[in-house]
Amino acid sequence: MESIKRNVLLNPGPATTTDTVKYAQVVPDICPREKEFAGLMKGLRADLLKIVHAPADLYTSVLFCGSGTINIDVCINSLLPEGKRILIVNNGAYNARAVEVCQMYHLPHIDLRFDVFKQPDLGIVEQTLRENPDVAVVYCCHHETGTGILNPIREIGALAHQYGAVFVSDTTSSLGMIPLDVVKDNVDFCMASAQKGLMAMSGLSFIIGKTNIIKASKNYPTRSYYCNLFMQYDYFEKTGEMHFTPPVQTIYATVQALKEYFEEGEQAKFARHRAVYEAIHEGLEKIGLETAVDRKMESGLVVSVKYPDDPNWDFKKVHDYCYERGFTIYPGKISTTDTFRLCALGKIYPQDIEDFFVVLKEAMSHYGIKLK
Ligand SMILES: *Cc1c(COP(=O)(O)O)cnc(C)c1O
Repeated sequence: MESIKRNVLLNPGPATTTDTVKYAQVVPDICPREKEFAGLMKGLRADLLKIVHAPADLYTSVLFCGSGTINIDVCINSLLPEGKRILIVNNGAYNARAVEVCQMYHLPHIDLRFDVFKQPDLGIVEQTLRENPDVAVVYCCHHETGTGILNPIREIGALAHQYGAVFVSDTTSSLGMIPLDVVKDNVDFCMASAQKGLMAMSGLSFIIGKTNIIKASKNYPTRSYYCNLFMQYDYFEKTGEMHFTPPVQTIYATVQALKEYFEEGEQAKFARHRAVYEAIHEGLEKIGLETAVDRKMESGLVVSVKYPDDPNWDFKKVHDYCYERGFTIYPGKISTTDTFRLCALGKIYPQDIEDFFVVLKEAMSHYGIKLK
């Protein structure tokens, strides 16, 4: 196996993958309607449950062909009963995306907005649930990738359940990196795509959720043809296949990535991402770049870095300098503050971060940007 040029991706996904995952896509051509392929997806669906400790008698996983946003679309348009409302606990760009999905489908919703630099106020969440008994679905992103803030989903899920609502969490940028236990964490539905925490390729997304709720949603208003959760679930149960063409090669890569996930182990992988995150903070401190978010609230996966106050700073130039040397840095997503992001996703190590800071320092002195 020839090794492929290794790029260190410090963007929030797709992430750096192993060569074994890359090569897993190189397989004989196969029609995905063959039994052999259905068998592959069956194992994959079962393994996804294990990652979030979902008991197989209560939860199921449903695969979709698409980027992670398809999951947001599917959950929101499929899980809202007639005459009910959805409450979006919104402290950032990815929760705002869920609000946009509600708007596109003209769904009754509450956009409960919080400061993007803070975790949501649970007292206000509870008060909103108390005052709005027609809320049937509570939605909140676990790790808000736009800022790097980790939201208290266990507590939000408990409140949702206390008020009889289903709790949906967008775990796209935490699943497979920060241990999640859907039962203990009060999560009825979570989601991710293969290219983030699982370190596979883009094109495959999945929702893990309570089977009885999916079955009940059969009787809810249908709002999409391609993106209906019950329809996709039902097709899998009846045939073992995706309703429409699956991303064949991405599925082979994901099967290999899951094998590597279990080999590395939940806790060891969590610790590795943490160590990378610590190395990012250490490197930033050394060169005197400031971060935008209180560290106590950070997920340990994304760091929002403030632009230095220097007329020579030019994100694009610095990005290009690093990119040419194998390191990808990423723009920020905070409207009020100029930031860029450094992320700890993917198969990378603290040594990669040390190597990156050598290059970043070089880039900064090359463009005459002041260093501490
Ligand atoms: C990456 C991400 C998504 C999905 O984004 P796509 O561009 O559709 O892959 C959704 N939610 C969160 C929190 C994410 O980080």
